[in-house]
Amino acid sequence: MDTYEMIINGKNVGNNLEKIHVTNPANNEPIAEVPYGGKNEAVSAADAAYQSWTDWSERSAYERSELIRKWYELINENKEDIALSMTLEQGKPLKEARGEIDYANGFISWYAEEAKRVYGEIIPASTTSKRIFVQKQAVGVVAVITPWNFPAAMITRKVAPALAAGCTVVIKPAEQTPITAIKLVKLAKEAGIPDGVINVIVGDAKEIGETWNADTRIRKLTFTGSTPVGKLLMKGAANNVKRVSLELGGHAPVIILGDCDIDKAVNGVIQAKFRNAGQTCVCANRIYVDETIQEEFTAKLIEKVRELKVDQGVNESTDIGPLIDRVAIDKVDSHVKDAVEKGATIEVGGNRIEGLFYEPTILSNVSDDMICMKEETFGPILPISPFKDVDEAITRANDSDFGLASYVFTENITKGIKIIDKLEYGIVGLNDGLPSTPQAPFGGYKQSGLGREGGHHGMDEYLEVKYISLGL
Ligand code: ADP
Repeated sequence: MDTYEMIINGKNVGNNLEKIHVTNPANNEPIAEVPYGGKNEAVSAADAAYQSWTDWSERSAYERSELIRKWYELINENKEDIALSMTLEQGKPLKEARGEIDYANGFISWYAEEAKRVYGEIIPASTTSKRIFVQKQAVGVVAVITPWNFPAAMITRKVAPALAAGCTVVIKPAEQTPITAIKLVKLAKEAGIPDGVINVIVGDAKEIGETWNADTRIRKLTFTGSTPVGKLLMKGAANNVKRVSLELGGHAPVIILGDCDIDKAVNGVIQAKFRNAGQTCVCANRIYVDETIQEEFTAKLIEKVRELKVDQGVNESTDIGPLIDRVAIDKVDSHVKDAVEKGATIEVGGNRIEGLFYEPTILSNVSDDMICMKEETFGPILPISPFKDVDEAITRANDSDFGLASYVFTENITKGIKIIDKLEYGIVGLNDGLPSTPQAPFGGYKQSGLGREGGHHGMDEYLEVKYISLGL
């Protein structure tokens, strides 16, 4: 079995610590072991990141850009290897793992360029004897805590802009998926990014989070994960008024109008729902479809769902891999059981498959009191509900504490824009089931989080604004 170590200040660390197994969710077999640390490693990583910050932030943007670009090239060269590790530790189909590496690396190449465009401003003063300048500077050391569902992209979309801005980072990936993270950090070292600029540790999440939150040298915390943990971290960050970016849960509604291109809508929904076995925070959680096309839309969707192949991710033909663990599959199962008890009809699927697999499932006759209509299922389950009046659909779509992604399908763009104006969501896919991309701002309204990742908005999250008043 392979052994991986943490990387602190460019050194492999943790050989002397207790180890945990990384398990393949497709067959429950251990695939690797990693050291399991806590407070000590969190402090050492913060020391390294703090010590390397001055040097890194004082390099020219062009020099940082070149090193970040080199990292991108090395990830490209090692794409197959990292994708396979990702599939083995996380479960997603190999073709999706390759897609994630491209997506994750897209952030690195985009921010390598954006490093050169951290522009300031000159503002007209109210007197001729003054000049007002505004410049932007790196926030400082950034703590990065990430989940298991996108083991590469959740890291790069935080780390790439942080590095581009001149920040240094300490990363704690999810304990289920540390191998992808460690491989990425090793390649950063190979690319010539100086020791200490990127550190990665594995261990007790609570202890590490508390240690970093209490450390005033760490100026910013960026987190992707569940809403309860996000709230906890935000409370901890408040003690030192640490900057926070949070990308939390979602419960994406899909509104399908009677005038839509039904095939386009079906394909969009398949992409938005079943990618990563439904384990994405932007995945379609509930469909509101115009009652006049409900039958045709549902029939076509069922046909497509029946074609989805559920199997181990390493098989090239797999569309849906296993869920991450037992808790995840029990949750999916309980959401389906709750819906059926409350009157839902299973149109297709509805069963566990041996191991951690679950059949892609469509539910009809659903009502808003069912758990799956409110809580994030994080699995391949899709409830469909008809509507008569589009305003009713918008009200139901907005009736959520979350506000991350939403989707609208219509061929009438004017109508589409009017609906979008009313949706309380940070992201809208209009006739598009896959809106995420490195150059666009990803993030949510309400309890889905704070801040944006991607694009120039994502860069601002790692920059402080300094205003200089010059007396002449
Ligand atoms: P999920 O349900 O997707 O696993 P979590 O919010 O539990 O979402 O996990 C996301 C990340 O947050 C993981 O890296 C996990 O280890 C970490 N985490 C979980 N609990 C805490 C905590 N109390 N403090 C800091 N990090 C935590």
